[in-house]
Amino acid sequence: MAKVLCVLYDDPVDGYPKSYARDGVPKLDHYPGGQTLPTPKSVDFKPGELLGSVSGGLGLRKFLEDAGHTFVVTSDKDGPNSVFERELPDADVVISQPFWPAYLTEDRIRKAKKLKLAITAGIGSDHVDLEAAAERGITVAEITYSNSISVSEHVVMMILALVRNYIPSCGWVVRGGWNIADCVERAYDLEGMTVGTVGAGRIGLAVLKRLKPFDVKLHYTDRHRLSADVERELGLTYHKSVEDMVKVCDVVTINAPLHPETEHLFNDKLIAKMKRGAYLVNTARGKICDRDAVVRALESGQLAGYAGDVWFPQPAPQDHPWRTMPHHGMTPHVSGTTLSAQARYAAGTREILECFLAGKPIREEYLIVDKGKLAGAGAHSYSEGDATKGSEEASRYKKSA
Ligand code: NDP
Repeated sequence: MAKVLCVLYDDPVDGYPKSYARDGVPKLDHYPGGQTLPTPKSVDFKPGELLGSVSGGLGLRKFLEDAGHTFVVTSDKDGPNSVFERELPDADVVISQPFWPAYLTEDRIRKAKKLKLAITAGIGSDHVDLEAAAERGITVAEITYSNSISVSEHVVMMILALVRNYIPSCGWVVRGGWNIADCVERAYDLEGMTVGTVGAGRIGLAVLKRLKPFDVKLHYTDRHRLSADVERELGLTYHKSVEDMVKVCDVVTINAPLHPETEHLFNDKLIAKMKRGAYLVNTARGKICDRDAVVRALESGQLAGYAGDVWFPQPAPQDHPWRTMPHHGMTPHVSGTTLSAQARYAAGTREILECFLAGKPIREEYLIVDKGKLAGAGAHSYSEGDATKGSEEASRYKKSA
C-alpha cells in the first residue's frame, strides 16, 4: 500500500464553499492540437468544485482510501518543522501544485527515502530539483495542457489591464472618485503595438492566437521554430534570440518554463534592451525575472508596467517588493487554478495515480523526468539542472486572514 502526501493551498478564509457562482464548467472534448483530456477510470468530484484546497483534496481521498492507501493532505509545507517535511520520509508519492509548491530540494529528496513519484497537479515542475530527482530515479510528472489555455486567457487579460491602466482606474471608483484624467494619463490602446512572447509552446501559441484579432504585430522567440503555416496564419515574426525580440516590442509576455537557461533571464541588462515604457507580463515563473531589476525598471520608467501571478518563492513573504512596486498588476499565483482548470488537473492527477498504482506506464506527454533523465514533455522543453535554490525563503510568509 502506498502513502500519498499531498500539499494543497488553504481553504478560503470563510471556509470551504457551500455553493458556487455557477452551476458547472463547460465540458471540453480535447485540447487544441488534439491531445486528449485526462482519462481516469472515474472521478469522485463534480467539475466546478474547489479541488485545489486542503478540503478539496483534488477529489482523491475516496479513491485512495477505499483502495487501502494512506492519503495525507496538508498546506503546511515550508521549514524543517512543517507537516510536509515530517511526513516526507516514508511517502511513496508527493503531489503538489505550482500555486502553493512543496519545494522538493536536494536535501528533501535525500530525506524522502521511499519517494518514487512526484506529481505536479498543474504544469511546471521547477519546484522539484529535477537533477536530484533524476539521480534518485524518481519519476516527475505533470498534467500537460491542463491549464495552458487558462493561463493564456490570463495573459491577455493582464496585457490589456496594464496597457489600458485598468486596475488604478477601478481603484478610483472604489475610492468614490471620478478622476478621468488620473485614469487616462497612463492609458493606451493595444491596437498597433508590437507584442512578443518568449516561448511559443502551448501557452505562448494560445496567447498569440488570442491576440491576433487585436490588430497587433506578433513576434516570438523559442528554441524550436513554429511551422511556416502557423507563422503565416498568425503573421508572426520569429527572432532567434530574446535580445533581438525585446528591442522591438511594446509588450513582452513570458511563456517559457523555468530551468537553468531561463533563470533570471530578465535582468538589468536585458530589461535595458527593451523599449522605454514597455510592459512585461510574466505568468510563467517569478524566477525568470530578476526580482530587484524589475522593481528598478518600474521605478525608473524603463518599464511602464509589470503584471503576472508568479513569484519566487511562493508564497511571497509579506515584504516581497513586488507587492508594493509601482505600476504592477500582480495577483497571487492563480491563473492556472480556475475551477475549470482544477477539474482537468485533478482528473489528470488521478489518471497518473491509477497508472502508477497499477504498475502501468504514465502517458509520455505527462513525463518530465523518468528513468534517471529528462523525459517526455520535460525532454522537449527543459534543460538539466535545479531551479529550487532560495525556496526556503517561503517559510518567511505569515498567514493573514
Ligand atoms: P510548453 O512546454 O508547451 O511551452 C514552453 C515553451 O517554452 C516551449 O515551446 C519551449 O521550447 C519554450 N522554451 C523553453 N526554454 C526556452 C528558452 N530558453 N527561450 C525561449 N523559449 C523557451 O509549456 P506551456 O506553454 O504549457 O507552459 C509554459 C510554462 O508556463 C510552464 O513551464 C510553467 O512554468 C508556466 N505555467 C504557469 C501557470 C500559471 O498558473 N501561472 C500554469 C501553467 C504553466 P521548446 O519546447 O520548443 O524547446
